[in-house]
Amino acid sequence: MNPDSVTFDSFCNLFQREEDCTRVLFAAKWPDGFRCPQCQHPHAYCITTRRLPLFECRACRGQTSLIAGTIMQGSRTPLRSWFQAIFLHARPEGINALQLSRIIGVTYKTAWLICHKIRHAMQHKDSQELLTDLVRLTDAKLFTRTMSSSAWHSQEQSVLVGSSENEQGRIFRIKIKKQNKQPLRNRYESPPVEPFIRKHVSIQAAKRAIVSRHYFGNRNQALLAIGRDAQWELARKFRGIGPKHLQVYLDQFCYVWNRRKQLVFGELLSQCANTRTITYPVLIKPVEDLSRSIVPRPAAPAKTVAIRAS
Ligand SMILES: [Zn+2]
Repeated sequence: MNPDSVTFDSFCNLFQREEDCTRVLFAAKWPDGFRCPQCQHPHAYCITTRRLPLFECRACRGQTSLIAGTIMQGSRTPLRSWFQAIFLHARPEGINALQLSRIIGVTYKTAWLICHKIRHAMQHKDSQELLTDLVRLTDAKLFTRTMSSSAWHSQEQSVLVGSSENEQGRIFRIKIKKQNKQPLRNRYESPPVEPFIRKHVSIQAAKRAIVSRHYFGNRNQALLAIGRDAQWELARKFRGIGPKHLQVYLDQFCYVWNRRKQLVFGELLSQCANTRTITYPVLIKPVEDLSRSIVPRPAAPAKTVAIRAS
């Protein structure tokens, strides 16, 4: 049975036992068969006396766990709970940590950590996919406030929104990257685009990238709408996102947007099985001056202020 064509209840029935998950995770981690991480030898003894199987390389005798080198490394959460969390993240409606904690029966802290680790796998994959073809780019502001002042509101965030367009003019890939607003003189100044282009646009596409400015006459309404969609989605689905974590939520939004109907459990599981984990201490490491939440509640998002520079 295809795990992507079933309901959540059916999925849970499909992966009731840890052994069911072990088999599928092995295939996701080593699609071409076992490979020793130390010496690349293709054969191992399987030690089954532990909660999860341990593999001992027949050549170098090095031992490796099934979850070593995956986002699940070091986790005591059962694999079936991880599978359920990955399945729910692959659904179009998505899920937040509070919902996940209730559904899979773990503490909020554990659910928060699982969500962040899955998000980390999405971010890792997204970072490998450059914008190509016809690239358009604009600056935008998220979580804007209605103010007469040109000074930044503490909750406002400056971002660059980029897209790839095919020959038919259809956008097939997007990226939204948070910008440092400290060097900008005021909230109407656009951040520089060169670092974004160097990092996120293919060399060929960079030569003819089209840049629009939010507060100039040639504003790109389609990209600005994508920025607003991201803001609304984050406000609807999550709460308490601080500036430190905003980028990974934006990357999750883009990862899902870029796949839309094609996002499937198998693909996300494969990415989770091939992405090194991110630890709790790293996730909660404080960042100076970035402690305030910018998405304090899941209520209706703030209105975007349409102000043109004079
Ligand atoms: Zn080996």
